[in-house]
This record gives sequence, C-alpha cells and structure tokens, in this order.
Amino acid sequence: MNLISAEALRLALIHVCSVIIEHEPYLTEIDTLIGDGDHGVGMKRGFTSVLKMLQKEKEYKPYELFYSTGVELVRTMGGASGVLFGSLFIGGSKSIPQDSENLCLSDMALFFRSAFDAVKNRGKSDVGEKTMLDALAPAAREFDTSVGQGLDRRRCFTNAYLASSFGVEETIKMKSKKGRSKNFRDFTVGYPDPGAISISLIFKGFMEFFATNNI
Ligand code: ADP
Ligand code: MG
Repeated sequence: MNLISAEALRLALIHVCSVIIEHEPYLTEIDTLIGDGDHGVGMKRGFTSVLKMLQKEKEYKPYELFYSTGVELVRTMGGASGVLFGSLFIGGSKSIPQDSENLCLSDMALFFRSAFDAVKNRGKSDVGEKTMLDALAPAAREFDTSVGQGLDRRRCFTNAYLASSFGVEETIKMKSKKGRSKNFRDFTVGYPDPGAISISLIFKGFMEFFATNNI
C-alpha cells in the first residue's frame, strides 16, 4: 500500500486528534514542570476543534485537509505553539499537489520536510534548542529515507514514529533555548520537551492508523 486517499488521510487525522486529546494530562504535567503548564490544554483545545471539523466534512482533498487543520489550530490553540503547530500543517500543505485526490509516499515525505522548514522559519529556531523540531527533524528524515528504500506506508510511518520518539529522548539532555521554558534554563535538563512529545504523538497517531487500516 503506497497511496493515501483523501478519506484515509481524513480518518488518520481523526485518530491523530484522539491521541493528542487523550494525552492532555501528560502534556500538562511536563509543561508544568519546565514551562507554564498550558501546552496540554492548548493542544487539546486545538485538536478537539480540528476533530469536529474533520467529522463534519467528507469532501476534502489531501491538500485541503492539511491546510484546514493548520488554520483551525492557529485559530483555536492560541499561544506561541498554536502558530507553530498551525505553520507545520499549513507549511507542509503548500508542498503537496493541491488538486490530487491521493497522496503518494513521496508527497508525504515532502509534506514532513516542508512542515519542518515552516516551523523552523516561523519559530526562528533550529534543532538542538529543545523544541518540537528535535522530534520533527529526525521523523521527517526517517520518513524520507524509508520512502527512498521502497518501504510500504505502514513501515514508513512506524520508522518515522520511532525516530520522533528517539528525538524526544534526546531533548531530555538539552537545555531549553526557546519559548517560555527557556526561563528555566539548566532546570529543563532531565525533562523531555512537551512540544517534541506532541510531535511524537502525531506520528504515533499516523502509525497506529496505518498499522490497522488498509483503506
Ligand atoms: P507557550 O510557549 O506559548 O507556552 P506551549 O506551552 O503550548 O506554548 O508550547 C511549548 C512548546 O512549543 C515547547 O515545548 C516547544 O516544543 C515549542 N516551541 C516554543 N517556542 C518555539 C520556537 N521558537 N520554535 C519551535 N518550537 C517552539
Ligand atoms: Mg507553555
């Protein structure tokens, strides 16, 4: 299975929303330890609103699904990370063909790479600063490598998720240099970055959906 239809993408994104919503207490706990504690609530608010949008309309093309997800996150999440998670989806959407009904795995690889560039530009940040980029960069790279190796979509998403989890582990050693948690400086060492955890949850959602659905 190497194509992703608009309907498969809509259902996969619905699953991503439910994974994020379910993990709100964990995200809140970590952002309370090294930030201002609002990350879980912001993510839950944003993805609940995306979930409602995705359940309403069934006629979206893949480009529109990603673009509308980003717009909804910017509109409802608030805070610095609302704009950043919005940029991820909006920036990623701009790299895929606007009128196609299906995505191939190389389109998806391009989506993740452009999503990374969009967050990096918008956040004026880079890998190594203990942010969501430290999970997104390895995941996007691993997805691209897996596509290049000719792996099927299930394995591409599994490998990307594993890389994002490894990225989250790496943030434990880092000192925060961006966002509210940078005020905690050295104290942030020893804890994972909440935004990076959210990225790994997005990949977990995709992985779980494509591991169990053949549509
Ligand atoms: P806020 O910082 O406004 O309280 P959240 O708590 O919702 O926003 O999100 C915090 C997360 O946002 C961090 O864990 C980090 O991953 C991410 N983040 C913050 N600033 C940046 C930035 N400039 N670039 C990339 N990611 C960032
Ligand atoms: Mg916060």
